[in-house]
Amino acid sequence: MVIQQILDFLEGMAPLSYQESYDNAGLITGSPDWECKGVIISLDATEAVIREAIQRNCNLVIAHHPIIFSGIKKFNGKNYVEQAVITAIKNDIAIYAIHTNLDNVVQGVNGKIAERLGLINCSVLQSRPGTLKKLYTFVPLAQAEVVRNAIFQAGGGAIGNYSECSFNVEGEGSFKADIGTNPFVGKTGERHLEKEVKMEVIFPAWLEGNILKAMKEAHPYEEVAYDVVPLSNIFPAVGAGIIGDLTEPVDESTFLSLLKDRFRVPVVKHTAFTGKPVKRVACCGGAGSVLITTALAKAADVFVSSDIKYHEFFDANGRLLIADIGHYESEQFTIDLLFELLQGKFSSFALLKTEVNTNPVKYFVD
Ligand SMILES: [Zn+2]
Repeated sequence: MVIQQILDFLEGMAPLSYQESYDNAGLITGSPDWECKGVIISLDATEAVIREAIQRNCNLVIAHHPIIFSGIKKFNGKNYVEQAVITAIKNDIAIYAIHTNLDNVVQGVNGKIAERLGLINCSVLQSRPGTLKKLYTFVPLAQAEVVRNAIFQAGGGAIGNYSECSFNVEGEGSFKADIGTNPFVGKTGERHLEKEVKMEVIFPAWLEGNILKAMKEAHPYEEVAYDVVPLSNIFPAVGAGIIGDLTEPVDESTFLSLLKDRFRVPVVKHTAFTGKPVKRVACCGGAGSVLITTALAKAADVFVSSDIKYHEFFDANGRLLIADIGHYESEQFTIDLLFELLQGKFSSFALLKTEVNTNPVKYFVD
């Protein structure tokens, strides 16, 4: 098993193109061609985690947060980032970060938070634009089924819980094969009319390369005519945060107690109670203050997140209960999520969760 195979699986679920512009998700150290001896999963690839990987005989650290965000110009170990990276490189440890791309898929970081809270009717809180495209192509009648199948198998044609969706209309195409061609039908130098199917298929934009490759391989024409069009349609499975319902409404103090319990936090920072029962819950693991407005617009009763600043708490304005449970605490079950996903897929290498608590924030509870 080489590392690339593990990355292909993870990126099939959380494509790198879904990461935010400021992010640095992906393989940070090491080579995708290395044989994987073992995987250790953590939120942060700190030096302590790299040393744990060495000690437990793993050569791939899968971390939620990229240890390197911006460029590094010197490697002399003067800060914790350089120390971790130097230790990784010296010991042939690959570091892979699956960060905002995992935040931006409904079954990712926030799906796990929703699961911990027992939410139902979940959907993405703020959908991500530009994630869907449409392919149109023109295929001779007899080959239409083969081309359609190839596009479906490459990931085209899924809408919600429906797959193999396409629209097909028969018509007539024309072309003239010029000098140097080898046309599938018709004669060189003469205009040819061919009965064709025009098919249209929606697809996730990140699969464009695969889908075009599959279509061209299955298509009989030497020069395939096709159009790819970006769509403004919403892809409900892709975007930031999550919103869902509790099975039964509870009062606000009961909800905060539930949060403390499910996320094992000694204290929850929150805004004044609104006096309304809590039923609709918006969540965003990590720093989620940019989603407060969306939580309000979607009539959430509570917004669970972290790293909320003083002035941002004012945005609740009596209409929303904001609950800040801490950055690490909000994302801690991402380790379990990655473990469960990888465990369900691979069995040929050791798969471990870190035993290092990398949370730099402590609470003094007297
Ligand atoms: Zn985070």
